[in-house]
Formats: sequence, C-alpha cells, structure tokens
Amino acid sequence: MSNNSLAPSAALVASVKTPARPEVYDTAAIQKLDTAHYMHPFTDHKALGEKGARVMVRGEGIYLWDSQGKKVLDGMSGLWCVNVGYGRTSISEAVYRQMETLPFYNSFFNTTNIPAVELAAKLVKISPPQFNHVYFTGSGSEGNDTNLRMVRRYWDVLGYKERHTIISRHNAYHGSTVAGASLGGMDGMHAQGGLPIPGIVHIGQPNYLESGRGMTEDEFGIEAASWLEKKILEVGPDKVAAFIGEPIQGAGGVIIPPATYWPEIQRICDKYAILLIADEVICGFGRLGKWFASELFGIKPDLITFAKGVTSGYVPLGGVLVGDRVADVLIEKGGEFNHGFTYSGHPVACAAALENIRILEDEKLVERVGNETGPYLKKRFAELADHPLVGYADSCGFVAGLNLVRVKGTTVHENVPFDEEKAVGMVCRGYMFNNGMIMRAVGDRMIIAPPLVMTCAQIDEMVALIRHCLDLTYADLQQRGWL
Ligand SMILES: *Cc1c(COP(=O)(O)O)cnc(C)c1O
Repeated sequence: MSNNSLAPSAALVASVKTPARPEVYDTAAIQKLDTAHYMHPFTDHKALGEKGARVMVRGEGIYLWDSQGKKVLDGMSGLWCVNVGYGRTSISEAVYRQMETLPFYNSFFNTTNIPAVELAAKLVKISPPQFNHVYFTGSGSEGNDTNLRMVRRYWDVLGYKERHTIISRHNAYHGSTVAGASLGGMDGMHAQGGLPIPGIVHIGQPNYLESGRGMTEDEFGIEAASWLEKKILEVGPDKVAAFIGEPIQGAGGVIIPPATYWPEIQRICDKYAILLIADEVICGFGRLGKWFASELFGIKPDLITFAKGVTSGYVPLGGVLVGDRVADVLIEKGGEFNHGFTYSGHPVACAAALENIRILEDEKLVERVGNETGPYLKKRFAELADHPLVGYADSCGFVAGLNLVRVKGTTVHENVPFDEEKAVGMVCRGYMFNNGMIMRAVGDRMIIAPPLVMTCAQIDEMVALIRHCLDLTYADLQQRGWL
C-alpha cells in the first residue's frame, strides 16, 4: 500500500478474488480518517467514532464485501436503490461513454442533451398514461422541493393564490432538504432546525398495527383515509393545494396500507380537486412488481416523485413525472417557472438511467418481482411469523417487514412489545450485520428491500439467514432476562 493513499494499488485490486482479501485494506487507517473528517448522514458521530465504520469495498449481484473480507447479503439494496444489483458493467460502460462524449451541459438556456431527451421519452413510455412530461433533479429530496413549488405555482397560475397548503402524513419520509423534511413526518427531523416550514400539515399514517385495533384492515383503510377529508375541512378546501404520500412508507418502517386506503384517498382528492402527489422514490422502478406503485394501488396521481431505482443508485438522479393536468397549465399559461438545478437532466446520470431501465426491461425484472419472486418472498417471509420473537410479518413485492415482540398475542393487536429503550431492533440488527445479512431496524420492526435480481434460491438463503439471526437474538434476549 502506498503511503499517500488508502486505496490499494490497481494490481492488488486486480488480484483480489471473491471474497476480497482483508490484507489489501488498512481498515484501521480508513476508519481513523473517516472519523476525523467525514460527517455521515443521519449519524451520531461520537458513537460512530468509538466503534469505527464498516468499510464497504466491493459489490456483485446481491452481495457486498467489506474491507476485512466479510461477505454480506444486502437485503436493503444499498438504500432501497440498487434494483439491478451490483457490478453491472454495462452501466459503467454507458457512463464512461457519456463522460467521454459530453460529461456535462446544462438545460437552462434553450439547450438540451440527448440522454436527457431520450430518458424523458422513455419515462413517459413506461409510466401511467397521464404522464407526458418529466422534470429532472439530482435527488428525491430535490424532486419533492420541486413538487412543493410546482403545485403552488399551478394554483397561482390558475388564480387560486390561497391554495398553498400541502397535506402529508406523520412518519412519512420525503427527503432531507428543508421542503423534503417538512413534507416528511419524522419527529426527529422536525425537532431540529424549526421544521416544518409553514403551509405543510400532517395527518395520521395508515398503520394498522398501531391504530387499527377493533377494526378489520379494510375498515381501518377507510378510517385512515377519512383523516384526510377531516384535515381538508379543517384547513379549508380552498386553501389546500395537494396531498403527498408514499404508496408504501419506506423509511417509516415499510408500512403497507390496507387495500381500501388509496382508492379512498383518490376519491377524496378528486372530490376537492386537490392534486395528488405519489412519492415513488422507493416504490417505483419495479420495487412492488409494477413500474410504478400507483398502478398497483389503482390511483391516478398528478405528480410522481422518482429517484433511487431510476439509476439503481449507480449515479445520483431524481425528478418528477408531471401529469397532464399540471403540465398543461404550467406550459400553456405559466410562462417561465423560476426553478431548476445545475444538474437537472445531467447527461451522465440520464445515460446510467437509460441503461438501468434497459436491464430492467430485458431481464423482465419488474414482471419477475410481480409474478414470481415477489409472491415467493411473500410466502417465505410470512413463515417467519412462527418464530417466537415475531409478532407480525408482511410484504408487498420486494419490500417486507417483521415486528419483534416480547409476547405474542392471539391477534396482532394483543402482541406485547418490548420497552422502547431496550432498542431490541438494534440488537437484532447487530446480529444480522455480524452474520452476513443487512436488515434495517425501524424501532423494533425489521425491514428489507432486496435487489430485484434476487432469485428464489437466494430468497431461501436470505430467509434462512434471517431465521438464524432471529434465533441468536432470542437467545441473547433470554440471557439478558428480557423475555
Ligand atoms: C429516499 C427518499 C427520498 C429522498 O431521496 P434523496 O435522493 O435521498 O434525496 C424521498 N422520498 C422517499 C420516499 C425516499 O425513500
């Protein structure tokens, strides 16, 4: 290893076969520099500094390798994004070719670039029929900032200058910019920096476990949607611009709403002519077995936020699919929309997205999740509910979650949870992490969102790993006297 770089020499890397050899990397030195200079997102640095970060160095398919040569099954697709899996040479080549030809040009001053044009046309083709326009951003957060400005602009242009309030939900995640975090419903984020900004209000989430006691799932879906109408009437229908929601809440803990919820939300939005924004940053691009989850839930949003799976995370890209209702007004009557980013329609990101979508299409990954691997995951994942720690397990397409409980009741509402301070989810996550499985903990709910390339055999492997780690967690909790 050279003295002035932490990166191993090219020759050494070339010689590294799976699994990566630990002696190639000076893990302690990387961790030390990491702690000294790199501020991570959503991280308690004092705590991280004491342990040191795990250094990921390589990925292939659904697996990752860290700097110590340990192989991990990535049950989270990076961060809900690596839909086509790691190590796709054709994406790297598409990116390289584009960088060689035209690494960057802007789309501000009556100029455009070919990958952005092609990608916009492609997205229109694979999205629901009401979408004929695309607004590109650099991330999902910027996509939702764009939504906020766009829906207010829409009502302004039509002469309804009072219609500026956006209704969202508690425990929603819509990104980390000021507008994104305000639209989101994360208490921890609102507690820092004086959020939410004015003109954004929140209603309850359709979380059957938390709020559905005494109701069937279908009854609860209607009840949870009625909170929207209540809020509209409270704010005043002539003041509400839009409702925003993730079809399935991701970061909030894979909250899968009852089947009755979204159609009722759609009905209420229609009744008051309120714009519907579907934040499909996670749910889009095949995650739920359809190109867009709006198709699955039978809704017709006016705007769809996308990011993550559009490039499988290989390079950053986000944006908004703009439905005809909004696009027609902005284009025909709006004049200039004073909004945009240096990297809107970045040619390299768009080239990566085009190749990513080609892979999803050619390998029929969306259909496979919809018809084959998604249903198989549902069946295998549901079996985990027989584990003594698991009070509830559900899934949809390629997202799934299970709840760790102290005592299992006869119905899900009679389960007895652990004390929150015990952070049992983090104990479980630790066992997963140290035994080759990445599964995320949201409180005591353990969640996955695997790469769409995962096969049925790999689902078996993953479920076995999860069960093994649940056993280890169970034994540990018994020893602590927590059971
Ligand atoms: C990740 C995420 C975002 C934010 O995307 P970034 O690219 O991190 O800005 C927005 N909405 C949802 C639903 C997300 O999961």
